[in-house]
Amino acid sequence: MIAKMFLKKKKLILMDLDGTIFPWEWGADYTVPGYFENLQIIHSMKLLVDILRNDKRYVFKFCTAYTSEQAKKEKIVSLIRNFPGLSLDEIIFVPYGESKYDYVKNLLDKKYSVCLIDDYSHNLFDFKSKGGNAIKAMNGVNGTKGTWTGASIDVYANPSKNLRYIENYF
Ligand SMILES: [Mg+2]
Repeated sequence: MIAKMFLKKKKLILMDLDGTIFPWEWGADYTVPGYFENLQIIHSMKLLVDILRNDKRYVFKFCTAYTSEQAKKEKIVSLIRNFPGLSLDEIIFVPYGESKYDYVKNLLDKKYSVCLIDDYSHNLFDFKSKGGNAIKAMNGVNGTKGTWTGASIDVYANPSKNLRYIENYF
């Protein structure tokens, strides 16, 4: 029994940013300086992240694509504004277009089971096909094609409801 407890994998949660904890705006020009720095966090997701970061059952990291060094810097500023004391190793930056799973698999090293929470089905399908768990973040503007029929949370829902869903799923 004790041996089994030690062998139990830690649960790693990877949280996307754009469209997941920050609202998604179709057609927005994200190359404008200040775009990522000025995004207002979705309050219910900020609360959910606060809970997950403090929950000893989980290791929590943000996992986000970036297209430029400027975007990367601005995302860091936004995150630290919303999560004072956040350490940079809690943020995984994935070059735009690359697989989030491939980018983190070296970190998994068999000691974590992992779950991605993301608004983009392409990332979720990729993650699941490679052996990860995946929950779609429904943000009010995605999910129109209905291609993802797996687990999902509503980013505007009560954080304790979303936490219960994550606990049951992962
Ligand atoms: Mg996203």
